[in-house]
Amino acid sequence: MFKKLNILDEKDKTLRKISKEATFPISEKEKDLVDQIIKELTYSQIEEYAEKYDLRPGTGLAFPQLGILKRIIVIVDEYEPGKFNNYVVVNPNIVSYSEEMIAADVGEGCLSVNREVDGHVPRHARVTVTGFDLDGNPLRIRAREELSIAFQHEIDHLDGILFYDRINKKKPFFTEYEIRLI
Ligand code: ZN
Repeated sequence: MFKKLNILDEKDKTLRKISKEATFPISEKEKDLVDQIIKELTYSQIEEYAEKYDLRPGTGLAFPQLGILKRIIVIVDEYEPGKFNNYVVVNPNIVSYSEEMIAADVGEGCLSVNREVDGHVPRHARVTVTGFDLDGNPLRIRAREELSIAFQHEIDHLDGILFYDRINKKKPFFTEYEIRLI
């Protein structure tokens, strides 16, 4: 039986708080929750299931979006049609990034933001993220393009930042040329 997650809406002030570092061992309950997140994010990107369970497509979720102020993020990246890579990072840190900036063409979306928000969100084109897996083993992930955007979006959640905070209100849209020069 598939049970949908209870994702907080942007109006909830919890989303504006700074999450605490997670400590090991990660509880079984939290590991189960991660499994549930992976399942829901995967289903949300498969049309048949998205329709069946009324899921908005999403590639990532951070624990604070479930009301848990711990630094854990989950990303389910469709790297090829129908093929997914899961990333679960505990206490993620961006340890290096490209000067070059990019933005998702159509802007960004968020499972906590139930409305369209127009505007480009400038992000680093490439990032290196370190952290730990659920068992405490160190991780080091290099991400580029969309996956890089996803990591920056989810890590922002741990610091109480929502994607639209980064949209320039005076100039919400950039050409690809302009954004690379930011
Ligand atoms: Zn989000």
